[in-house]
Amino acid sequence: MPRALVDPRPPIPAPYRTDERTAIQEMARDFAMSRVLPIANRLDPEHGLIPDELRAEMGELGFFGVMVPEPYGGLGLGVFEYALITEELSRAWMSVASIIARAGIALSLDPAQREKYLPLAAKGEWLGCFAMSEPGAGSDIASIRTRAEKTEGGWLLNGQKMWCTFADQADCILVVARNKPYDPDNRHSGIRQFAVHKLPGAFPEGVSGSPIRKIGYHGWRTFELSFDDCFVPDDCLIGYQKAETADDIGFRQTAAAMATPRIHTAARSIGLARGALEDSIAYAQQREQFGRPIGDFQVTRFKIAKMASEVEACRALMYQAAAGADAGEKPDMAAAMVKYLAAEMSEKVTSEALQIHGGAGYTTDFPVERYWRDARLTKIFEGTSEIMQRIISDHLLPPSPLR
Ligand SMILES: Cc1cc2nc3c(=O)[nH]c(=O)nc-3n(C[C@H](O)[C@H](O)[C@H](O)COP(=O)(O)OP(=O)(O)OC[C@H]3O[C@@H](n4cnc5c(N)ncnc54)[C@H](O)[C@@H]3O)c2cc1C
Repeated sequence: MPRALVDPRPPIPAPYRTDERTAIQEMARDFAMSRVLPIANRLDPEHGLIPDELRAEMGELGFFGVMVPEPYGGLGLGVFEYALITEELSRAWMSVASIIARAGIALSLDPAQREKYLPLAAKGEWLGCFAMSEPGAGSDIASIRTRAEKTEGGWLLNGQKMWCTFADQADCILVVARNKPYDPDNRHSGIRQFAVHKLPGAFPEGVSGSPIRKIGYHGWRTFELSFDDCFVPDDCLIGYQKAETADDIGFRQTAAAMATPRIHTAARSIGLARGALEDSIAYAQQREQFGRPIGDFQVTRFKIAKMASEVEACRALMYQAAAGADAGEKPDMAAAMVKYLAAEMSEKVTSEALQIHGGAGYTTDFPVERYWRDARLTKIFEGTSEIMQRIISDHLLPPSPLR
């Protein structure tokens, strides 16, 4: 007789707990378990896309507008609530927890465009994607080579981008490019962001792309893109209206904007590990060997105890980092620490969960293999684990001469 899943997550700790947060967390969990999980279990094995109906329901629940100010139709909440919802959605399907971040791209737009697109983004009716990585520029974003050259009324973009997730379905591609040639002696100079507006389901004029074959993170496609004289009007240069013109402004903007996505990624990692833990607790009670449930064996019990402790430790650090960010603290180091620890933990915990499932864990019949595949990615994107350690050590030691 299959055991019902038991949520091993304790209540939000007292210093952070409010009735509103508890209600938001419960609502997100109910939605994740009743709506997202069955869809993920069906579509992930066949590499199907996140259905539009699901996206519309998420829009109605406010998931896309968690941090969008209320006057624009968002919930006007903070990083803390964003992390709570993300963990719950990722427990069911990481890709669904990820798509809510795509509304946030509207927050980067210049004021006039923000007025237009933010209300739609808050409902999930306008979503962006981010084209920063290139074939030769991954961890080292200062080595970006895509060029933006001035032309009448705007800019022409030329270059190659890698790993642009959701490029086909997005309403806008936020492209990181240089407005001057790459200079090895001044690597941070001239980096800027450009909003390339487009229709969902198509690439804009001057852009072509092909999907990359991934081992996980299904539910949406990830593209290699080519920009060939793609025209972007002047007002689509981010910071177009800002007085600050320091040459490295674009690099600083890009780097500074990574903290919240890293807390979001920690929440995604924790959600995956939580899913794997919940499934393992249920499986350990129903799978029998040597005449007893495998959950009677101390080795299984201690595995589960260790997994639960590690998830809980990362969640506590995530709450702290999110609350700090909401309180206006500079979040770089806390975000790097929690992103690093949660991603490493998630890979380990999901792998242990697969072990508890034995051979069944190595099939596509149980979601635990999806949690494991997706957890592996959290060590790579939004900055690798090694880059997180570099950021942390740069806060603790004099900067290394090796960048
Ligand atoms: C499925 C998927 C989706 C993605 N989606 C997007 C997206 O939507 N938009 C986008 O712009 N990007 C996206 N990315 C790209 C992602 O952010 C990069 O893969 C990541 O930043 C690492 O870059 P890289 O793959 O080029 O690895 P590299 O930078 O080549 O790193 C290779 C190895 O070297 C290590 N390394 C590199 N530099 C150092 C150093 N200084 N010190 C120590 N170790 C170092 C790395 O940690 C890593 O282990 C996605 C990636 C994947 C896999």
